[in-house]
Amino acid sequence: MSRWIIVSNRLPFSYDEENKKLKPSSGGLVTAIRGIKTKEEVLWVGSIPNNVPKKLVRQYKDQDNISFSFPDLDKELYDNYYNGFCNDVLWPILHYESESVKFSNERWEDYIRVNQIFANHVAKVAKKDDIIWLHDYQLFLAPKMIKEINPNLKVGFFLHVPFPSSEIWRHLPVREEILEAMIHADLIGFHDFAYLRHFVSSVYNLLGIHSSLLEIRSPHNNTKLGVYPVSINTQDFISKASSKKTAKAIHRYGLDIGDRKYILGVDRLDYSKGILYKLEAYQSFLRENPKYVGRVQLIQIAVPSRTDVPEYIKLRHDVERLVSEINGEFSEIDYIPVKYIFNSVSVHDLMALYRASDILLVTSKRDGMNLVCLEYIATQDPKDPGVVMLSEFAGAASTLSHATIINPMNIADTAQKIKESLEVKLEERKKRHNIMFDYLKEYTATTWAGAFINHLKKKTLESNPKLQDLSQQAKFEKLKKGFDKKRRVLLLDYDGTLTPIVNDPSAAVLKPRMKSLIKKLQKRDDTDVVIITGRDSNFISKQFEGIECYLACEHGAKFYDYKNKKWRNLVASSKKEWFSQATQIIKEYTRRTPSSFFEKKNYAIAWHYRNSPQDFGEFQARKLVIDLESGLSHLPVSVIMGKKVVEVKSIEANKGYFTQWFASRYVEKDQKLFSIGDDRTDEDMFRALEANGETVKVGTPEKTSAKNYIEDQGDVYKLLKELFLD
Ligand code: UDP
Repeated sequence: MSRWIIVSNRLPFSYDEENKKLKPSSGGLVTAIRGIKTKEEVLWVGSIPNNVPKKLVRQYKDQDNISFSFPDLDKELYDNYYNGFCNDVLWPILHYESESVKFSNERWEDYIRVNQIFANHVAKVAKKDDIIWLHDYQLFLAPKMIKEINPNLKVGFFLHVPFPSSEIWRHLPVREEILEAMIHADLIGFHDFAYLRHFVSSVYNLLGIHSSLLEIRSPHNNTKLGVYPVSINTQDFISKASSKKTAKAIHRYGLDIGDRKYILGVDRLDYSKGILYKLEAYQSFLRENPKYVGRVQLIQIAVPSRTDVPEYIKLRHDVERLVSEINGEFSEIDYIPVKYIFNSVSVHDLMALYRASDILLVTSKRDGMNLVCLEYIATQDPKDPGVVMLSEFAGAASTLSHATIINPMNIADTAQKIKESLEVKLEERKKRHNIMFDYLKEYTATTWAGAFINHLKKKTLESNPKLQDLSQQAKFEKLKKGFDKKRRVLLLDYDGTLTPIVNDPSAAVLKPRMKSLIKKLQKRDDTDVVIITGRDSNFISKQFEGIECYLACEHGAKFYDYKNKKWRNLVASSKKEWFSQATQIIKEYTRRTPSSFFEKKNYAIAWHYRNSPQDFGEFQARKLVIDLESGLSHLPVSVIMGKKVVEVKSIEANKGYFTQWFASRYVEKDQKLFSIGDDRTDEDMFRALEANGETVKVGTPEKTSAKNYIEDQGDVYKLLKELFLD
């Protein structure tokens, strides 16, 4: 049975020195994984701090189906990787603070080394059908490294922090290396659609690889993309918040006495959390609304983070200076406006604070998701819930539909919204809370993890298990044997199959070696060759001059029967109606898009934009597809988006239709069909031959109806020669 291998930077427990025991930690990921209802075994791989006795970890069983494993990491190497690169380079750039990035080649080298150690470890412990789930930016390079060791392992990657705009990401000196490594994964997940979009545009701008927002097709893999906002163990928070311990804590701290209102902030003391904005807005609110002085208190928990790093020391000073300033300005004998705690608090104290406060104020400058606001909603008393004020720069803003969304950089507006939030009527508060609470009851950490896992599993199933890899000698021999002593018809695609894909289509001429191979094949009594292509007849006739073979051009719309020396038009529907209309639309786009051009074929018009400005060209192409589809929706055409080309063509100009037509008229009973091709249009041909032919895809073995594949166009010559000539 397959296992899940979860890989994160650290294992999900800490070491209790006093009791000499491992203590499970309680983050969102841990809860989610523990909550997954699966019979499958889970192996969790992560590093452990040096003070943890290794024996304890090996023996530790979290629950029946989870066990743990760790790579050996030298402490100094780990520090350089973790503090030097993850925290000082990746964290700031991912949170839009590129000014704070402290890049050096040594740190990068150490990051590579540690990722390689992780990858080696994972590949060593993984068994054949295991599925790997990598977590977060500490392991950006691992997808590629794992696939290099074992390409058959399924690898998913989830990013727990934002992915910034490509304009920020491009500041990073090793921007391409990281993207290229990531897109080796089979599935990449983000919290928010905006992060996915940013990632996709970075891949496009920096690697030149186009994506549909659902999938990135690259030479490395077909990588699925998805949005899976993380959630919490809602039920657990509900029970904790309504427990006696929490009630006692509320009482102990006097949070239930009097009519003072509480605004709560719970953040790690990190620059991404925007704590200074929060304090400024609160100060402004008190200045504008003196009647609230004495009646409202801000309780700010600032959980210490990276306390030895200069930026964090400075941030702490700035925060504490502003806290003092506000307290100096507004304190009274029996009133402190800001209660500031530079420490973490116990679970029940945190529950008490959540439950007793009237507003949760989240002012993050950038925040992958922000779990605190989800926890706050789960812990409210539904009869008297508080209000969530949430920065629009936190991932959670996309899922919490009824939070009060703020731009924390707009101090005056945030101050105004604090006032409004304090004054929201009970009915309104209940209504808003109820909607978000219902959502969280249904959408938990378990749902989150389940969605990711199922998607990755689906991808595993999607890849056709019967697909044969012809680079394996045995598979090749089997295919060859199937044609032994049989008459055969070979349907050969042109671009990407007989010739490599190049930037200038007119430069994709047939190499003499390939031409001579086709000539030899066609000369054999037992072989007939059909060139089946999207190209027009002029170009193709020129390439195959001197070879007597069938030519099916424009996806089969125009057919050359070499035996009768005749060209035939196979499109029955009239192009009169649509051709001029489509030309008009395309001309308009050509005028407006620099360096684009169009090509009129007999039954198709192709609009090329490979020389246009990248982004603009891509944008125009998408719009053109929409315009053509809607403008010609009632006419017998299909619109396809290819590699830097949009093509509108007669609906019958389709390699699938052609293949069926050809097979029924030209192929005799004792002839066996073979087809080879590389792109979407060839899939129609593969499907047409599902029952009665052998099919080969040139490219990665994903999303294809072909029965066999070879990865590299450079191997097509050898394949054809060895299959049909030798
Ligand atoms: N938290 C905690 N102790 C504290 C304060 C906060 O354990 O004293 C937890 C909180 O319950 C939440 C997490 O820390 O689960 C913070 O997660 P969030 O996504 O909000 O921010 P991050 O620190 O991961 O950026």
